[in-house]
Amino acid sequence: MNITRDLFDDVMVPNYSPAAMIPVKGLGARLWDQAGIEYIDFAGGIAVNVLGHCHPALVNTLKKQGETLWHLSNVLTNEPAIRLAKKLVDATFAEKVYFGNSGAEANEAALKLARRYALDRFSEDKNQIIAFKQGFHGRTFFTVTVGGQAAYSDGFGPKPGNIDHIEYNDLAALETLISDKTCAVIMEPLQGEGGIVSPSTKFVQGVRELCDKHNALLIFDEVQTGVGRTGDLFAYMGLGVIPDILTTAKSLGGGFPISAMLTTTAIAEHLKVGSHGSTYGGNPLACAVAETVLDIVNTQEVLDGVKQKEQLFRQGLETINQKYTCFSEIRGKGLLLGAVLNDKYAGRARDFLVAAADEQLMCLIAGANVIRFAPSLVISDEDIQQGLVRFEHAVAKVVKS
Ligand SMILES: *Cc1c(COP(=O)(O)O)cnc(C)c1O
Repeated sequence: MNITRDLFDDVMVPNYSPAAMIPVKGLGARLWDQAGIEYIDFAGGIAVNVLGHCHPALVNTLKKQGETLWHLSNVLTNEPAIRLAKKLVDATFAEKVYFGNSGAEANEAALKLARRYALDRFSEDKNQIIAFKQGFHGRTFFTVTVGGQAAYSDGFGPKPGNIDHIEYNDLAALETLISDKTCAVIMEPLQGEGGIVSPSTKFVQGVRELCDKHNALLIFDEVQTGVGRTGDLFAYMGLGVIPDILTTAKSLGGGFPISAMLTTTAIAEHLKVGSHGSTYGGNPLACAVAETVLDIVNTQEVLDGVKQKEQLFRQGLETINQKYTCFSEIRGKGLLLGAVLNDKYAGRARDFLVAAADEQLMCLIAGANVIRFAPSLVISDEDIQQGLVRFEHAVAKVVKS
């Protein structure tokens, strides 16, 4: 069969518009397409490939587990799931874990749990969910409605109710809106899709206090920030604020689909037998791979490496900006960074992305004004430097065009 990009349009639902080239192989922070052209990968599968492509330890775990036990369903438990849950509990504030397969599923579980908890403990009318504009929480109908871009949830008919959105970092707006009818506040501890926006310390601490005051659960969506991305194992650890529920996915499996919702025993007990579930959730193959990811990422060496590599990226991007003056700011944390276009290049992030691909560099955007970088956490310094050279060529082209 001749596999081409055109065939994609023939046989796929048209909800995506992927690049023209088709990658066929990856190793570390490098990718190769059908024509054998090599790319440096600063996109990391959208903050997923924490250990790059085909990391030997993950390949080894996958092979070993693949020859041992793949799947059982939740009628039976399995050793990899219990081991992974124990390690997540030991490494975080949490006491209980629920596994799903995607970020949206972990958030769906978190939101349903928050609703159930409020119903059991307080009253039927404590069901308001407060979320933030430009936030992103997945594409199921509940999670996409909770997300802060109406454009993603419009056009599907009536939406789940009592979900309100306010500006991120606007504590006064939250104070006005939150009440004893609020069951949960959900936020990313660094907005990813929404443009790489960090919360102020005052804001996150204030959100925590307001949630406590009104018996609302605080849900941190760490689907993008979790598992080492910001240089802490989870972003909450660098903020000094502990959520009631935390969701994580992307990096957790390092490229194998898995997600987790973490919470306390007192909250978890409201998900009684039969109240929620997933066929694949906690699958042994996925949990074995995620355990290896966690073992490697949750080390001082890797987490310190993220902070050191962040500096390399920041210095490189600042140097490019001194020459070409196209960014107003480099922002984000760890290896989740955004180069924000200044007024002269406003709305043109995609042009930079396309120019970078022409220079054999994969990067991402986060909205129309931000070029986003979310590479492997163990990308070598040489790959960062070479990638930045390619990025500079791309910037030069856009600036001259
Ligand atoms: C990617 C993302 C999601 C959705 O995850 P899926 O695995 O695509 O369902 C949810 N929340 C955040 C913050 C994300 O970045």
